[in-house]
Amino acid sequence: MPESRPDYLPPEVQEILLSSEAIERRVRELGRQLEKDYAGGRLKFVCILKGAVPFAADLMRATALPVALDFVAVSSYGAATRTSGVVRLLKDLEHPIEGEDVLIVEDIVDTGLTLGYIRELLARRGPRSLRVAALLDKFERRVAEVDVEYVGFRIPDRFVVGYGLDYDERFRNLPYVAVLKPDVYRGEGA
Ligand code: 5GP
Repeated sequence: MPESRPDYLPPEVQEILLSSEAIERRVRELGRQLEKDYAGGRLKFVCILKGAVPFAADLMRATALPVALDFVAVSSYGAATRTSGVVRLLKDLEHPIEGEDVLIVEDIVDTGLTLGYIRELLARRGPRSLRVAALLDKFERRVAEVDVEYVGFRIPDRFVVGYGLDYDERFRNLPYVAVLKPDVYRGEGA
């Protein structure tokens, strides 16, 4: 029997929105879905740094398909909890994606501006197919129309951390998705 231990709860956490078990179950489902949709093929994961790292790592192990991995990084909010709307490419792919079945792996889609930018950028490079897997979808805040073929969870408009998502580079290593106490970002107008 694997040893189980209660999830660590930092004092800044107000509420756990998605438990590690719920995430694990959903990621397993998505992995099986990928196996069906890409049966007989192979996939190139394009993981968006840094927030999507845990999701990409778990999702690639939840599928029996051959998966290659590459990374892009785009400008982030820094310590702010809202997007500026300006997206900048900080790190490009290591390899071409022409003729490949590409899956963009993202942590969360909020306004859709970041994903819209990355989707367009990669589409211009001639992949055979291009889809998106996002762990979280904050659908209420969408500004840019962008297709997300695989969604882990639709969540309400709240700023979340954990399972890769940070606030000012903290909380990425929490195994669950949580909401912080409001006083953590007091003074910033979030
Ligand atoms: P969008 O361009 O869709 O507005 O924002 C997408 C990016 O904003 C995500 O990749 C993520 O880095 C960040 N983001 C959006 N909502 C949240 C949130 O609730 N928590 C955290 N930590 N980051 C978020």
